Amino acid sequence: MQQKLAIGESCLSGTEKEAILSDYFITLNQQKASFLGYQTNQRVDFPARLLPFLSLNLLNLGDGFEEGSYRINAKQFERAVLDYYAQLFGFAGSHTQRQYWGYLTAMGSTEGNLYALWNARDFLRGYPVEGYAEAVTTEHPPVLICSGATHYSMHKVSQMVGVSLFHEIGPQLGTCPINQGDWQQPLAVDEYDAVIVDDLYALVEFFVAMQHPIILVLNHGTTFSGGSDAIYTILTRLKPLLGQNTPQQRRYWIHVDGALAANFSPYLRTGTAPSSLTDEPHEFRHPEVMSLCTSPYKWLGMPWACGVYLMQERYKVGSSARPVYIGSRDSTVSGSRQGIFALNLWDILTQLGQTGLQQLARANESLANETQRRLEQLFQHLDPGSKRLRVMPRPHHSNIVRFTAPNPTVIEQFSLAQNDVVSGGRPQRMCHVVILSHVTQAMIERLLDALAQPGAFFTPSRSKNPLTDLCSMRHRDGFCTEYQR
Ligand SMILES: *Cc1c(COP(=O)(O)O)cnc(C)c1O
Repeated sequence: MQQKLAIGESCLSGTEKEAILSDYFITLNQQKASFLGYQTNQRVDFPARLLPFLSLNLLNLGDGFEEGSYRINAKQFERAVLDYYAQLFGFAGSHTQRQYWGYLTAMGSTEGNLYALWNARDFLRGYPVEGYAEAVTTEHPPVLICSGATHYSMHKVSQMVGVSLFHEIGPQLGTCPINQGDWQQPLAVDEYDAVIVDDLYALVEFFVAMQHPIILVLNHGTTFSGGSDAIYTILTRLKPLLGQNTPQQRRYWIHVDGALAANFSPYLRTGTAPSSLTDEPHEFRHPEVMSLCTSPYKWLGMPWACGVYLMQERYKVGSSARPVYIGSRDSTVSGSRQGIFALNLWDILTQLGQTGLQQLARANESLANETQRRLEQLFQHLDPGSKRLRVMPRPHHSNIVRFTAPNPTVIEQFSLAQNDVVSGGRPQRMCHVVILSHVTQAMIERLLDALAQPGAFFTPSRSKNPLTDLCSMRHRDGFCTEYQR
């Protein structure tokens, strides 16, 4: 195959090309028919009404709130989409005085995490921001605190912007207040991937006493389990410790990574409108949240990755350059951003409306419930004492079901992502299925059939498994993190 794709001197004929592409498309569609293991919705219906826009180089260049001189753009649609998310995420609306700023990213939540850390760093270093015009000098560098279940992009991003993680700064300052004094252990989570609040508190207390500003990254929907930190509880409890951000005193930054779950969790509440804030423990829309990102493509199904980044405007590091060349503020990570993302998102959101979005969220949840139940039943039948086979408990409102990894053939057939979890003192390789709208009951039946076959869980040799060694950080309960270095 690779040979056929080589780009040579002569051009490929139309028929040759068609044959190559149609073969490839068939292969991809076979994969799609049993694609269960990643957080991306493969039900992608790109609407015909948007096709004409693909005949343009439609770019949102620079800040979406300024028209700029590049007029072939979709900034009006970008702003409409941002308004929707700002309402949903509590960054706008009648209940808050807050003004937000944000943009649709060129990448997914990785870029949202990057922007958050970049802005947090400069805010805490005392740079002028929209709301505080004066620069101030600061003594200590900020420290990044996040749990072991945090997405792997956070480590990369912290290196890119030169912000140190707690275990990099900690050893020079004193004894680690958690993990029996071991700075190299991750901040632990429970079996739902929620950070252990007492440990988090102790760590924050330590760095506050050392006068280091804190960058706290909290998770709403972790990659492997879909679990959430108890964000509302945590921020309410930490607030007295963190104190107050003022123009002279830059103390903390709170960022929420809501890549998958923030898209739909507001729709899964009963009895309240999606945009109304609650004080439930896992409510992610606490007034102290300063920035938030999400990856709508994961839940909604789009032909590309894209992301939403939102923040409280008054904390935005102000003086983004304003190149004469583009006639607007260069306030985004990438200069050019695809306008079609904005049109596509606007189209999906207006197609479904809040009623449709709610139905979608509920349909995912009910199939996740059903999948969990059926897997538990099957495992009970295959392994009555649950000695080898285990279905992990599912976090509240998660659309992800975790279970003991089957053999490589089944893993490949269903594109199952894996992670190591220590259960009963021994590392266990787990897989997960992520319920999104391309997942049908029939696909789940096929997975259950495959898992019920003799030998489905045969693994050659546990002790020789090199991947167990890859797991460099363990949770308190022995859970490994996704946060591999
Ligand atoms: C997927 C994911 C990301 C990164 O999103 P991309 O769209 O791949 O950049 C970040 N955080 C979490 C929790 C994720 O699941």
